[in-house]
Amino acid sequence: AAEEGFDVEDVEGAIEEAGHGPLPVLAVVGRPNVGKSTLVNRIIGRREAVVEDKPGVTRDRVTYEAEWAGRRFKVVDTGGWEQDVLGIDASVAAQAEYAIEAADAVVFVVDAKVGATDTDEAVVRLLRKAGKPVVLCANKVDGPSGEADAAYLWNLGLGEPHPVSALHGRGTGDMLDAVLEALPEAPEQSFGTAVGGPRRVALIGRPNVGKSSLLNKVAGEERVVVNELAGTTRDPVDELIELGGKTWKFVDTAGIRKRVHLQQGADYYASLRTAAAVEKAEVAVILIDAAENISVQDQRIVTMAVEAGRALVLAFNKWDTLDEERRYYLEREIETELGQVAWAPRVNVSARTGRHMEKLVPAIETALAGWETRVPTGRLNAFLGELVSAHPHPVRGGKQPRILFGTQAGTKPPRFVLFASGFIEAGYRRFIERRLREEFGFEGTPIHISVRVRE
Ligand code: GDP
Ligand code: GDP
Repeated sequence: AAEEGFDVEDVEGAIEEAGHGPLPVLAVVGRPNVGKSTLVNRIIGRREAVVEDKPGVTRDRVTYEAEWAGRRFKVVDTGGWEQDVLGIDASVAAQAEYAIEAADAVVFVVDAKVGATDTDEAVVRLLRKAGKPVVLCANKVDGPSGEADAAYLWNLGLGEPHPVSALHGRGTGDMLDAVLEALPEAPEQSFGTAVGGPRRVALIGRPNVGKSSLLNKVAGEERVVVNELAGTTRDPVDELIELGGKTWKFVDTAGIRKRVHLQQGADYYASLRTAAAVEKAEVAVILIDAAENISVQDQRIVTMAVEAGRALVLAFNKWDTLDEERRYYLEREIETELGQVAWAPRVNVSARTGRHMEKLVPAIETALAGWETRVPTGRLNAFLGELVSAHPHPVRGGKQPRILFGTQAGTKPPRFVLFASGFIEAGYRRFIERRLREEFGFEGTPIHISVRVRE
């Protein structure tokens, strides 16, 4: 590094920054209008999570990356709340339940000006049951006079209430310090305890693509679909299923099987549930209805899994219904609509007939292997050296930026840091990614490439 003009500390810092595995997850829960979205905006330091006063607005983005005191984590916002037919308590409980399930720690937001309500108490019961670390946020304490209101919330039995004004930022720093203490370094929920245990699979896809049918098929038994009443009849959330001679943990299967009938807000619940399942899983099997056109919703789900950095398998279901013409057009659609995940293993299945069920496990295993691939530094640099001399970066402003060396900083998914003598254009980065894939495989996994430029 030194002879290429890089400071050794710089290089180590870049590798450490890029090398993180899956980030721990923080869920922000509470009843409507206590200020969850405002707080999430504060935490992520952006206005991305739109604060909406109007009801009836659904959002599909629910997880965001955040950083405090040099530590990175993910935040799940449950502010897109919608009251449904179940009534306020059950609705709040249902959304909180998904988020808590996927989280390593929880910020429970209460409106200190209003005090604890029955709905708040309902959430407290859920939090007790879940046993996750909780940071109690007494929000809307905009000035010192509100501190007394916050102190009342000791009554909830969740420990110290942190007086905060999400709107003005007052007290959020102290609260975030408490959050960092509550959050594990690595996400225990999905990984820490899972070493050597069953691999975690999220079976996701838009409504009616056949998730529940596929789950029944692979689990080898017909299940009763539980109707309505979220939060009352609770099935086990994760299910161990024997497949291909191994045990797999299918996460959030209750979310698949439970049919909560919603008048409104169904999209939001679906997004929250999908995001939660993806966070908990190592590999996502995205089910797509092959009989229908690939939709924006399908693409959004794919993007969610890719952005979360999970291994990925695409399963095209209802293959039994396809005629030759549809098969032809499907191939064209896959090329145009799913080109960004051309690296994902693909299976064409039928949950109805059982077609190609046996191909599911090998596809999942391929994706997980890609996800965990580590390229030795020597091999990587031999490859980069050849690549750079055979295909140099285009000359810009009389200079030719060069990739000098690189290293793989992490896995799950593979993360690379490349060190360069000048700015590397997006097109050339994509070219490098393509070549890396050709050389080393990485089937079924997103890969991250960051570039450090010499000062
Ligand atoms: P959510 O439904 O829990 O996500 O709540 P929102 O973040 O949408 O906030 C609900 C309302 O409370 C909005 O009008 C916010 O501007 C307001 N609000 C949020 N945080 C604070 C705060 O710290 N102080 C005051 N005074 N108002 C706040
Ligand atoms: P989910 O909402 O994704 O869980 O979808 P379901 O499993 O409830 O399936 C939706 C509908 O598609 C049901 O009527 C199923 O019987 C049907 N279905 C599921 N898989 C297949 C399949 O492979 N072939 C056919 N023809 N129909 C299927």
